[in-house]
Amino acid sequence: MKSSTQISAKSLGLYLAVCFSLLSVLLTLILLVVIDVTVTKQAKASIGGNLAELAHQMSYRLDRAMFERYREVQLMADRIGRDGKPVSGPENRRMLDALQRTYPNYAWIGATDEQGKVLVATRGVLENADVSARPWFQNAKNNLHVGDVHEAKMLAKLLSNNTGEPLRFVDIAFPYGGLDGTTRGVLAAHLSWVWALDIQRSIMEPVDAARKLDALILSADNIVLLGPPGLQGQKLELDSLKKLQLGTNSFNTERLLDDHEYLVGISRGNGYDSYPGLGWKVLVRERLEDAYLPVKHLQMQVLWIGIAVASLFSLLGWRVARIVTRPLKVLSRSAQQLEAGQPVKIDVIKAAYTEVNTLSGSLNSLIGNLQQKEADLKDLNATLENRVDQRTVELKQALESVRDNENRINTIIETAQGAFIGVNFEGRITDWNTQAEKMLGWRREDILGQPLDTLVPERFKATISKTMQVFANTGSANFINTHLERLVLTNDGRELPVEIRIGLINTPKLKFFSAFLHDISERKQVERMKNEFISTASHELRTPLTAIYGALSLVNSGLVGELSPDAKELIGISYRSAERLVRLLNDILDVEKIESRSMTYERVVQPVLPLLEQSIRATQAYADQYQVRFELVCESGQDAQAKVDADRVIQVVVNLLSNAAKFSPAGGAEVTVRLQRLPGFARVSVTDSGCGIPESFRSRVFDRFAQADASDQRQKGGTGLGLSICKSIIEAHEGQIDFVSEAGKGSEFYFDLPLATPG
Ligand code: ADP
Repeated sequence: MKSSTQISAKSLGLYLAVCFSLLSVLLTLILLVVIDVTVTKQAKASIGGNLAELAHQMSYRLDRAMFERYREVQLMADRIGRDGKPVSGPENRRMLDALQRTYPNYAWIGATDEQGKVLVATRGVLENADVSARPWFQNAKNNLHVGDVHEAKMLAKLLSNNTGEPLRFVDIAFPYGGLDGTTRGVLAAHLSWVWALDIQRSIMEPVDAARKLDALILSADNIVLLGPPGLQGQKLELDSLKKLQLGTNSFNTERLLDDHEYLVGISRGNGYDSYPGLGWKVLVRERLEDAYLPVKHLQMQVLWIGIAVASLFSLLGWRVARIVTRPLKVLSRSAQQLEAGQPVKIDVIKAAYTEVNTLSGSLNSLIGNLQQKEADLKDLNATLENRVDQRTVELKQALESVRDNENRINTIIETAQGAFIGVNFEGRITDWNTQAEKMLGWRREDILGQPLDTLVPERFKATISKTMQVFANTGSANFINTHLERLVLTNDGRELPVEIRIGLINTPKLKFFSAFLHDISERKQVERMKNEFISTASHELRTPLTAIYGALSLVNSGLVGELSPDAKELIGISYRSAERLVRLLNDILDVEKIESRSMTYERVVQPVLPLLEQSIRATQAYADQYQVRFELVCESGQDAQAKVDADRVIQVVVNLLSNAAKFSPAGGAEVTVRLQRLPGFARVSVTDSGCGIPESFRSRVFDRFAQADASDQRQKGGTGLGLSICKSIIEAHEGQIDFVSEAGKGSEFYFDLPLATPG
């Protein structure tokens, strides 16, 4: 992380510096190319133009000088012979000599007669000589007044020559006439070629001596008249010469009969004023490398300036790169320190550019935030650690407490008097304490994981499985937290009566039934013995009591004689007590029979209605005591038949009628006995308008020895066993018995018997 930051910082500086350098070099190169393309071109044009200008000046000066001579000779021709005196007179010679003196380059001036004999000449040279064959003489007569350069013929020997070169002349000749206007002869002047050299010198000398310029004068047919020694007399075949118009200039690069390349300025003369010119061309040449030397210098200068500028800009670039990257490096160092966890404060870098100021400001606030967050995190961390420590301690304590609880529960379960069995929702045994081992004979390790069925006698297995199924489907279990008495199988195959209390643990993680079993075989034994005793006692008591009851009944009825009122009252009390005792004994014997399953039912299919009529008749005497009237209502069950034991059904109805009468309000109450035929069964109901059954008692109405009011027994007689016996009898007939009651308004007890198909 650290090294990569440094590399990128360095790279940025280097990158910027290299970029600046490259840009400078590129700019310089572009500048050079531009200069080369534009300035060099201009400079070359200017140099060429300069040469052409020189050539033009020389051409002009030559034409101008020739014009002056031309005009002088013409003027002289106009004057000569006009005075009427002979041309050969001394005045004319003096005049010609005077003219020659004014311009020493006049090599010879002379006038001829019409036939070509020289009449007068400067310094008398060639006087009387015949020049009729000379071209200038012929030309003058034909109006050609100028003759091109040629070597001296006749005058070569006569004139002094110290130039070292052969004498060469340019001829100017005009015919002259007499006063009558006729042509009398020709006036001619030979102009020494030296004047051209003078003109050449006068033009070239002011030009920089360092420049090696050559001037060439070419004749109309391009023969070099004047020029460097090798070229003089040579004919130049140059395209540029052919194209050149009269009176124009140009310049060009040419090879002039040698290996060198020259920059050549050319001018073609066009005469001057009346002087028509000889069609000469003037060339001023300079070797190309010399001519373009200033251009080279310029290029070199530009190059050096470019290098200097590039170097300067590179340095500047380097400097700028350092300026740009320095604050970034400072920021980067700060970031590294920050990363290393050192406290950092980035000062606003004043010299830096705005962006870095902003960046450093932002970084500062970021660092502030970060440091704040770090401090917060540390605090949070410390708090969290504290909390974790605290929670760990709490957890340890909780764990210990759980272990203690577990131990406690295990100890409790182990030391509990009853057997403890745990069963999971799949019906498998999961817990089994030592008491269970002792009670049921299975060792813990053998029974754990076994199905609950192992403990259930064969005939109850279907019921247990159904109950478990109902719980699995609906989650409802009415056996929870109630005392149940059941038979369980021991390891040696015995059926052991136990009292069971089942609990339910149903949490997301823990689901099982807990059951405490208490061995009640001894209690059952005692109960059986007690019941047997009661049964035996009741039997033994019932025979004499029935006799007593019969006797008392007889006495009470007065059939055995009138009794004194006191005796009658005593006999009445004895009679009712005996009656109650007989009923109690009957009930006790019935209960005992029901419990010992020794009650027998002689069930015959028969109509139900007669049984109700019999019951009403049997109870009427009892009901009369309470002035209660029975009304039998039979809406739809006249022919309803059921397979029943008539005595037992009558016993049930009598019990219901007795209760209704007993609890009806005194003074002419009515009890309705109703027979209804409902789908599948016949319903018998007994409705009274008595006190009704209090809410709190309703769940226990069918329990043994249950009475709503303990004083009932005293006030109304009764044992609290009647309805319990009724329930057993009706259930033995596959029917059911129930009631609806409203406290203070009355009750309706009813039972349903399955209808028997007639026949
Ligand atoms: P008992 O021999 O005491 O009548 P039962 O088992 O026949 O015994 O009735 C139990 C109790 O039910 C009665 O003591 C009484 O409190 C209540 N009981 C029964 N039938 C009626 C009724 N028709 N009206 C009000 N209470 C009734």
